[in-house]
Amino acid sequence: MKKAKNILDVNNIAKAVLGLAVVLVLVALVLVFSRHFGTSFSESDDEYKSIVVVASGDTLSKLLTEQGFSNAQVLDIAKVLKNEADITSLRANSDKIEFVRADEKAPVSKVVIVPSPWRQIEITCDADGQWQCQQIDIKPDTRVVYRQGEILDGDSFYLAGGRAGIPDGILAEVYDLLAFEMDFERDVRAGQKFSVLYEENFADGKKVDNGRVLAIQFEALRGNVKMYRFKTDDGKVGYYDENGNGAIKSLKRTPINNAKVTSSFSNRRKHPVLGYTRAHKGVDFRASTGTPIPAAGAGRVVARGYNSGHGNYIKLRHNASYETLYAHMSRFAKGVVVGTTVKQGQTIGYVGSTGLSTGPHLHYEIIKDGKHVNPMTVKLPAISNLGKKDKERFLEYRKILDDGIEHLSEHPEWFIQL
Ligand SMILES: [Zn+2]
Repeated sequence: MKKAKNILDVNNIAKAVLGLAVVLVLVALVLVFSRHFGTSFSESDDEYKSIVVVASGDTLSKLLTEQGFSNAQVLDIAKVLKNEADITSLRANSDKIEFVRADEKAPVSKVVIVPSPWRQIEITCDADGQWQCQQIDIKPDTRVVYRQGEILDGDSFYLAGGRAGIPDGILAEVYDLLAFEMDFERDVRAGQKFSVLYEENFADGKKVDNGRVLAIQFEALRGNVKMYRFKTDDGKVGYYDENGNGAIKSLKRTPINNAKVTSSFSNRRKHPVLGYTRAHKGVDFRASTGTPIPAAGAGRVVARGYNSGHGNYIKLRHNASYETLYAHMSRFAKGVVVGTTVKQGQTIGYVGSTGLSTGPHLHYEIIKDGKHVNPMTVKLPAISNLGKKDKERFLEYRKILDDGIEHLSEHPEWFIQL
């Protein structure tokens, strides 16, 4: 799929910078595309078209036969599709097929398979009765939009984000990114403002899906958190703070998204089961039994076992300094044993209540150089930082995004077209 003119896919940043600068000038002058004026596309009526959404149990041959194709034609079409479009089966509830006829009673002259909003495969019959296949990539009309919200009393970030008009998928991505920098339990208060710059993809004037998150801002208690998406010279995509420091950290403070902290890290607390005071060397997150537990960072399993306190637990080593521990699991993920290398976010086990535990939760520890640290406050190392040249490009690019944000924050109904 080709995303033309997408600034972050363009290798030559100078081109992108110039392009965006020109666009911004246009924005300032005339480009007030309110979504109310989106063009709608209407097709000519000199052909008859029926559209079938592939249902479970449907096969290509069944659908073609229903439309009046002979067995020989069905075989021909299946062969062309396999050889030229690499399509051997249809996906139920996702693929669509259009059958085009000259009029309602005429035989089908064209079959269009639509496996994604951005790809179509047209199958037509030539004068010799040979079926031909043509693939069409549809270029999305990508619009960069800006949404800002505010946390209200008793609010969650998800509620506030939804109210600001940020789609769920984008919100989940933003939460994931912010969780590297913020503790949603402690850093979020009523009155805080946040904003997201992201892409929406349109076709024929209608929104089809969301694109990428380009920039985030959150006025957290511990300071304003800013993140910008940026592609380095060698093609690595990451998020960076306003100074170009890597915002994606090698470890996550909260492995399970949006889980409530039920017990914080402390050097002294009364143990809920044992009754006497003892340090709580991790953070407890409430989650139901069976909730997948993702690895907080890439690493290697160095311990997997059971003890009376932790119940089923796994310990990961991430690098020379950092280890993490996950306790009270109901079970381990398949294939995750001592020595297994895991990726950040990979499921290593499932929430449970084994060991000394009053109910299903994840007990999570971060151990730095052999000492337990508070996952919510420890300064975490970035996965990657920018080299000198990339950093210079980043800072220029960031200024342009900031300009765009400034324009859009004054005119939230506008969008920037790249
Ligand atoms: Zn605990």
